[in-house]
Amino acid sequence: MTKSTRISTPDAELSKSTADIRARNVWSIFRALFPRNCLSRAELGRRIGVSRMAIGEITKEMCDTRILTTTGLDARPGRGKRSTMLAIDTSYWRLIGIDLSQPYVLVGALLDLVGNVSERTEIVHDDSYDSRASDIIALARRLQKQSTSPILGVVITVPGIVDASGTVLLSIRLGWKNLPLQTIVQDALQLPVLAGNTINATLAAEHSNRAFTDNSMLVKIGMGVGAGLYINGEIVRGDSFAAGEIGHITVQTSQANGSECGCGKTGCLETFVSDKSIRARLAAAPERRTEILSEAGQILGQTLAMTVGLLDLRNIYIDGQPDLVGNTFLDALQQVLDHALTSEYRRVPEVCRCQQLPDRPLKGQTLLALPTLLPTVRTHFQVLSNSQ
Ligand SMILES: [Zn+2]
Repeated sequence: MTKSTRISTPDAELSKSTADIRARNVWSIFRALFPRNCLSRAELGRRIGVSRMAIGEITKEMCDTRILTTTGLDARPGRGKRSTMLAIDTSYWRLIGIDLSQPYVLVGALLDLVGNVSERTEIVHDDSYDSRASDIIALARRLQKQSTSPILGVVITVPGIVDASGTVLLSIRLGWKNLPLQTIVQDALQLPVLAGNTINATLAAEHSNRAFTDNSMLVKIGMGVGAGLYINGEIVRGDSFAAGEIGHITVQTSQANGSECGCGKTGCLETFVSDKSIRARLAAAPERRTEILSEAGQILGQTLAMTVGLLDLRNIYIDGQPDLVGNTFLDALQQVLDHALTSEYRRVPEVCRCQQLPDRPLKGQTLLALPTLLPTVRTHFQVLSNSQ
């Protein structure tokens, strides 16, 4: 057998599965404490189904590496030994976040382990399309210098299709095609980098903020129209990482005739429901404002109804400018879904508006990156301790 032949041995498989179990337990403990819960080791063990000994070992390592911190003793009344309470340590690690989804500006921030922003900086572009990987690296380096805490990794949100390796397959907004963004930034900064789609990141942030179910959809109405999907608590990425790319699906509608789209087809969803298309209709007939907004809500409802019913989704979040995505638009959308989906065996999905919070994509991308980054903390911590 040559040295280069790789055969997975039982020992290698065992250590891989042990590492997987450890990573899963670290993430389960983090989720149980996210964002500001305080729990004892015994309660954590009960919640995630891990023995007392195992929970003791994992939480010790998580405290040693500053993912968790102790917050004092259990304050419950009664006799018996009081337990030490644990919480997420937000004072130590920082992540660098770069948001590429804002027009004319490259937004950078430092975030703690629960996705709260502590520092913010930006690079303004004269041209909305002039975004380069070198600017991202320069902005990240600026934030790295500003940070008084160690950096765990870098998260980047991209308006476009991003594959599992962080390659931007296509971003029309940024003018990028097949750009290995994650690798480029990682090589330059020598830090773990996780790049992902902005709408998926926004959906993850909404999901963490609200008590909604694990089956939901977020539709972003902006320069185009795009969606993110949560099914059984997991972001759906699709066979070609284009799940949620609904803007250029052609729509059959009785209300309006489709116009020609920038992609070359006629009657794409974007030609009915994007910011630009709604505003063009409003400008042409301002006296028909209510009718135009209602019609746009209906068309989106008709487009989504089959998917929402097929997947049995519970919550539909609409992210858009408040003057367009207001009560008229949302009521029309809800009515179409009510009519299409009401039945004895299904709860009708609830439509609601996303709040306009600028840090949401970075917070969400942080949360999506943490299951990958947290298991690497042990190595980072070792490197930092050795260098001191
Ligand atoms: Zn199109």
